[in-house]
Amino acid sequence: MMNSTTTTPANLHILFFPFMAPGHMNPMVDMANLFSFHGVTTTVLTTPANVPLISIHPPTKLKVIPFPSSNVGLPSGCENVTSLMSMSMHATFMQAVAMLRQPLDQVLQELCPDAIVSDSFMPWTFHAASEFGIPRLVFHGTSFFSLSASDIVDNLNPHDKHEESFTLHGFPHEIQLFKSQIPDLKKSNPALLATIKEVKELDKKSYGVLVNSFYELEPECADYYREVIGRRAWHVGPVSLCVSDQARMNHDHYCLKWLDKKKLNSVLYVCFGSLCRLSGTQLKEIALALESANQEFIWVVRKMEEDEEEWLPEGYEKRMEDKGLIIRGWVPQVLILNHEALGGFLTHCGWNSTLEAVSAGVRMITWPMYAEQFYNEKLVVDVLKIGVSVDVKQYGKGQDFAESLGIMGVVGKGEIEKAVLKVMSGGEEAEEMRRRVMKLKEMARLAVEMGGSSYQDAERLIQELLGKRP
Ligand code: UDP
Repeated sequence: MMNSTTTTPANLHILFFPFMAPGHMNPMVDMANLFSFHGVTTTVLTTPANVPLISIHPPTKLKVIPFPSSNVGLPSGCENVTSLMSMSMHATFMQAVAMLRQPLDQVLQELCPDAIVSDSFMPWTFHAASEFGIPRLVFHGTSFFSLSASDIVDNLNPHDKHEESFTLHGFPHEIQLFKSQIPDLKKSNPALLATIKEVKELDKKSYGVLVNSFYELEPECADYYREVIGRRAWHVGPVSLCVSDQARMNHDHYCLKWLDKKKLNSVLYVCFGSLCRLSGTQLKEIALALESANQEFIWVVRKMEEDEEEWLPEGYEKRMEDKGLIIRGWVPQVLILNHEALGGFLTHCGWNSTLEAVSAGVRMITWPMYAEQFYNEKLVVDVLKIGVSVDVKQYGKGQDFAESLGIMGVVGKGEIEKAVLKVMSGGEEAEEMRRRVMKLKEMARLAVEMGGSSYQDAERLIQELLGKRP
């Protein structure tokens, strides 16, 4: 019979190894903190330059391994996707990431964890875990909805067909996508396609998948992913709800004081995540749309570095002095979303941003740019009905939309303004959306509380892993 001291969560040690990009690192660190609230011993593994970027709460521990930048010719300190100057450095960065296999092996020998949670972008961690004889759980950083939808799209091969748009047959929801929203990797990047194949194969061989979501948000897709696709998965989110305001980076940022002076639900937050950079021409259209809609805003601006063009319309900052805050840097997004002055979020639909908005009860204006963001938009607009899309006419034009951004794919001021007004103008449709998202906010909170669906799923996993200990 098992000794009771071996079955308490503290005896279970889980190593969390996040991929080095904010959208992957932040939720996995929050996830480690969440498991430590459940009493599990948790360690986060990262590299030196990433240490200042993450907020670890004791008793979660940090283990740091060197990053081999110089071995592959990357500048020193270039240890996060946000520090890559161009897309062409991506492959080199991934080469350096794969070289972390040896230090990972040493950490496994030294710490002897019972399980490892690692990012799907680091498929080779499966081999490290197998050789060490422990389960590997995969973290994708996305929803059941997009995990399921992308599985169907993989089997559909939309680029082999003539039609510009297609529907996902067999998917729990009726959704339509444009071919241009799915990259044609067979043609444009066969090397990446091969990597994705490997990711998927090792993903399937892994112990299961940890999803930052909650059941009530997407019950049909959670069931579909488990029962039809047949993956073992646990939902433990929204993980951002497990972090206190004070523990967040930049929790005293000046934009929060600026928001304090604004009316309830009046301000629009505009941010396209941590990586997305827009052309000067596109930024100008957004600026003009916000002015024309007479909309108060906080706008996090990331411009393409090679684009020298002056994009702010003449006299704009003076005219909008009291109305808008343009910030070129990192802001405390979760705190902004939770401020009572916030009324809407113009977002690229990264999964963290989407889930953070749901958890804060904020309606969205959706403008996805690439990858699974298109699926997240469908969930927000078509299924949950808590947002409206920016009408991006280029989707139907047959080109990979992300590639076209800044080249020909500029979305005009008119389309942006129309979507902003639909959400922020206070009409009946907008109020309905608010009621729906406020309900989801409450469900999200209940999911992570003791006895809630995410709390229980985390407990189930903990008990299962405890049962596997020698
Ligand atoms: N984020 C932030 N401040 C910023 C920009 C982004 O805190 O100025 C956070 C945001 O809260 C989210 C993450 O960075 O947790 C972005 O992840 P997401 O999946 O939305 O998009 P990605 O950056 O991966 O495209």
